Amino acid sequence: MTEADQTATYPAPLRHFVAELAKAATLHGDDEAVMLDTCRALMLDLVKTDDWLPAYCARPDASYYQQHLLYGDPLDRFSIVSFVWGPGQTTPIHDHTVWGVIGMLRGSERDERFELDADGMPVPTGEVSTLKPGDVGVVSPTIGDIHRVSNAYEDQVSISIHAYGGNIGRISRHVYQPDGTVKAFVSGYSSALTPNLWARGA
Ligand code: FE
Repeated sequence: MTEADQTATYPAPLRHFVAELAKAATLHGDDEAVMLDTCRALMLDLVKTDDWLPAYCARPDASYYQQHLLYGDPLDRFSIVSFVWGPGQTTPIHDHTVWGVIGMLRGSERDERFELDADGMPVPTGEVSTLKPGDVGVVSPTIGDIHRVSNAYEDQVSISIHAYGGNIGRISRHVYQPDGTVKAFVSGYSSALTPNLWARGA
């Protein structure tokens, strides 16, 4: 990457988001409701503009949706990821086990909610939302943590920004498979490149 690229992609809004979330985590890290409220407000601000995400964090893959790490708190209090959906790509039904805030940056995604029945099987709650650029959604074990997310478009890439109340690349959580089995998984990050929050810039 050239210096010109770095200046062009200086992610000032992301830097602000990280700084404010770190302050909130220091003051209210144990209070999920406050963290969700604070992060939601910050996310609404972050996805209001779409000129800050470096191109290498917006890359799709033909086979799998991508999770590019944008920032990982050194104390693992939160992490921020760009989700890049290729046309028609979808997640399995899954949970998070920590709070999460999703902000739509480009394109559109469909979010279908589930809850577990008495046998531990996910059943649709009937709540389905379609996020458009600027929209923000939330998940957490206390307000509803199980969903399936898909690119709403069959013919274009969609991108959403996710913040989680922990290092999502290290947290063991669950996928609920069509055959009724529940599998523990840890989601990996797609690349080792992260935005340079320390670069000279605006
Ligand atoms: Fe999710």
